[in-house]
This record gives sequence, C-alpha cells and structure tokens, in this order.
Amino acid sequence: MGSHEGRTYVVTGAASGIGAATAAALAEAGARVIAADLEWDGAPPSSRVERVDLDVADHDAWVALAARLASEGDEPSVDGLVNAAGITRRARLHDATATDFAAAFAVNATGPALGIQALAPLMRDGASIVNVGSAAGTMAHYGIAYGASKWALRGITKTAAMQLGPRGIRVNLVSPGFIETPMTASAPAAFRDVNLAATPLGRTGTPADVAAVIAHLLSPDAAYVTGAEIAVDGGLTGHGGGLPIARALAGD
Ligand code: NAP
Repeated sequence: MGSHEGRTYVVTGAASGIGAATAAALAEAGARVIAADLEWDGAPPSSRVERVDLDVADHDAWVALAARLASEGDEPSVDGLVNAAGITRRARLHDATATDFAAAFAVNATGPALGIQALAPLMRDGASIVNVGSAAGTMAHYGIAYGASKWALRGITKTAAMQLGPRGIRVNLVSPGFIETPMTASAPAAFRDVNLAATPLGRTGTPADVAAVIAHLLSPDAAYVTGAEIAVDGGLTGHGGGLPIARALAGD
C-alpha cells in the first residue's frame, strides 16, 4: 500500500462492509480517517478513526462537516474522500417505484456528488477521490433503480475528474463484483451462487480486496490515474458473457 502517513481522508459508509474495511486500512497505514455513516449501532468499536454521523444525501450535513474541518488549524486540508455509502433496491423493471429510484439515486449518486462539492474546496493538489460504483453499473442488472444509480455515479465520476483535474485532484471509480458484506448477505442465496459461478477467479470478494484498490487510488502511487474505472470483481465483468460459452465448449 502507498504512503498515507499524515494524510486526512473522509470515508462514507464506514460503519459496515467496504467502507469499514477501507477506513481501517487507511488508519492502519497512518492516515487520519474521518469515518462517516448514518449510525454506528453494531459497528465494532474502533479508536483508530473519528466517527461522525452523516447522511450522505443531506446537503446541509456535508456543509456542516466541511465547515468543521475548515475550522481546524491555519491550513486545513482534506487529502481524499471515499464515497462508499450505498443502499440497494432490488425491485425489477415492472415493480420499481418512483420512491425506489429516488432513494437509490439520493444515496448512491447525489450523495457522492454532494460530498465532492462540499469537500473539494478543502483539497489541494495531490488529493484523491474514490467513488464506489458497482458491476451493476457496467451492465444490465436485475434491480433497475440500483443499477441505474450506479451508472449515474460513473458519469459523476468522469465529470468531477474533468473539472477537478486542473487543480491536481484525481477522481476515480472502483466497481466491485460480489463482495461478502451485510448488503449482499441480505440478497437471495441464488444471487451469490450465480455470481460465484460467473466469476473466473472462483471466489467471492472480501471488503479488504476492495479497500486495497481504493487505498492505492488514494495514494500518490496513482498520481497519473484519474477518470478511471477499475473493476474489483474477480473477472466477473471482464469476460462479458464469454465464460459460460468457454465452459460449454471445454474439451473442444
Ligand atoms: P454495507 O455493508 O451495507 O455498507 C454500506 C454502509 O453505508 C452501511 O453502513 C449503511 O448504513 C451506510 N449508508 C446507507 N445509506 C447511507 C446514507 N444515506 N448516509 C451514510 N451512510 C449510509 O454495504 P457494502 O456492501 O459495504 O457496500 C458499500 C458500497 O459498495 C455501496 O456503495 C455498494 O453499493 C457498493 N457495492 C457493494 C457490492 C457488494 O457486493 N457488497 C458490490 C458492488 C458495489 P445502514 O446499514 O444503516 O444502511
């Protein structure tokens, strides 16, 4: 992992899953981590991160966090933001409601944009933002509102990378495949089985698998990477449907 010593990061969705693993990895690597989430009930105690209650869909909450950080010292600086908070919505095309779309977009797309708006003014040359997208944002997905919100986040990532590039601030997206977290634990068992069967590496992912890639993108080691999308999915999306065909023809 690159150097994170002396850097300050804000990580959302940090009470669980990928966000929690990312916050822990960054703290372990020497960073100051401001860990944001809706609530902390059930999260293991940690003295290594600073916890804040924050609803990523709440513009005023972001403004308040930015004001608090700006009031620290003469030259306050945020070196990075990880937008990992997310919610799933699994209703299909004919069942998804306007409420499903509004909720998914508010947390998964608008939330990261609001966070970037609020914190980018505190960032200097060398800062880095990582949005957590999804394989669902790169292909058709059974839950239409969730998938669409993750497609939207790709657009937000690329626009932010374009606009913040001249200030030396990088913005990238990671797209996880099936990762073992509370979010996927709540899915039907078939979802895990089918994802596993479609994953060339033959295993599901761990939050630490994703955290390691996020940490790399945050670090100066990725200094010339911006506007990029990196799949962290064991090859799920890379074969583009070729895997079952190759399997069916194995032995030819
Ligand atoms: P997770 O374990 O459910 O963690 C998500 C965290 O975000 C939870 O602590 C959740 O709090 C929090 N959160 C939800 N709404 C929020 C809000 N409005 N403001 C602040 N925090 C909020 O899920 P995960 O699997 O780690 O997912 C992390 C990210 O990875 C999400 O963006 C997800 O879409 C994405 N992702 C996950 C997978 C996967 O396979 N796990 C695959 C692709 C993409 P509550 O628990 O209180 O709701």
